[in-house]
Amino acid sequence: MNIIFLALPAAGKGTQSEKVCKNYHLQHISTGDLLREAASKNDSLSMEIKDKMQKGLLIDDSIITNLVSREIKGREGFVFDGFPRNLSQAKLFDEMLKENNQKIDYVIYLTIDEEVAKQRILSRFVCPVCQSVYNIKDESDKICSKCNSQLVKREDDNIEVFNKRLEVYKTDTAPIIDYYKEQGILFEVDSSLAPDLVFDQIKKIIGEL
Ligand code: AMP
Repeated sequence: MNIIFLALPAAGKGTQSEKVCKNYHLQHISTGDLLREAASKNDSLSMEIKDKMQKGLLIDDSIITNLVSREIKGREGFVFDGFPRNLSQAKLFDEMLKENNQKIDYVIYLTIDEEVAKQRILSRFVCPVCQSVYNIKDESDKICSKCNSQLVKREDDNIEVFNKRLEVYKTDTAPIIDYYKEQGILFEVDSSLAPDLVFDQIKKIIGEL
């Protein structure tokens, strides 16, 4: 089974991807995580990736499809978190899956109010060690409850970059909603609820194991 999560930034793609992977024994592919890892290396590509991510822009399709095709080669059963991000990636992805005798089973479209997403971005902290994500609104200790590391803010989690990412989402990513709707594999889920309630809706779509 292959599942795509599609949503505005901070709608909960990462959180729900993890829940689905654990419950349905699937592998998590987050292009954002793959890019953050690539950006941390000290090579010619890392500077280009870092620069675009800090500006909230999309990374070139060829870089993304290379990263994804390397990950899926010879393996099966994925949750794609943050990929595809535009129509050309969606079409290249269809070809890639066909070559691997695979298909997309569900596209879960997490809906959320823009203002709610913005507030989540401002209170989002991540663990740089185990990648856990937290929403912290007060001055409580910013320590990861899973591995005790000091939590940090992602460099692109600020209002300026959020606004740019929103703009990019509307122009580049939103058109793939119709692309998958026409194929009859798009399912909308209200992502403004608590994570467990969002996951309950997803389980109804995919079915219990
Ligand atoms: P995310 O972790 O999904 O919020 O992505 C963080 C940033 O990584 C985005 O704002 C983009 O700059 C870049 N990115 C992630 N996935 C893609 C993709 N599929 N295509 C292009 N850029 C991407």
